Amino acid sequence: MFLVCRMQDEVIENLIEQFRTLPGVGYKTAQRYAFSIIEGGLERAKRFADAIVEAKEKIRFCKECGNFTDKEVCSICQTRNKKIICVVKDPRDIISMERVKSFDGVYHVLFGTISPLEHRGPDDIKIKELLARISKDNVEEVIMATNPDVEGDATAMYIAKLLKPLGVKVTRLAQGIAMGSELEYADEVTLSKALEARREID
Ligand SMILES: [Zn+2]
Repeated sequence: MFLVCRMQDEVIENLIEQFRTLPGVGYKTAQRYAFSIIEGGLERAKRFADAIVEAKEKIRFCKECGNFTDKEVCSICQTRNKKIICVVKDPRDIISMERVKSFDGVYHVLFGTISPLEHRGPDDIKIKELLARISKDNVEEVIMATNPDVEGDATAMYIAKLLKPLGVKVTRLAQGIAMGSELEYADEVTLSKALEARREID
């Protein structure tokens, strides 16, 4: 008897634990999610589980920009103005920047920033790939949208220096996003203003 009860508990506990592995989900929230699944229909639970597995199996990085996509080239790269590239650190920063509805350019994910402290140099992030795109697509402007922190600034400066001789205009998002904060948490208005007021790096 004891064993049966314990096993049931374990199944619920396991589901709660799975939800807890998600960012920002504490025990109580995880418990609410778990009960919602348990109390909902089996079909819904299957759709939920299938969506997770399908995303994991199919989502990859866009071969042009590094965005998450289920195609070889993401829908942003397929439809937008390639003459303006917004350079970000992480694929999730694209989701943040996309809150700015007026932006019509494409993106380039660096997958990191230059960080001497963490022994990450220019060759460890996707700078070569950015240079290749610049010559291939006749890019006119590169907007550096790395986070406004020491590493983000250093990376923006480094890339600006590299691109200057190529005649490409390199701009940086204006300070509206607080120094040291992350793009991911900036709201739409702040980001729009930071983009509008971007200035050339010299
Ligand atoms: Zn793309």
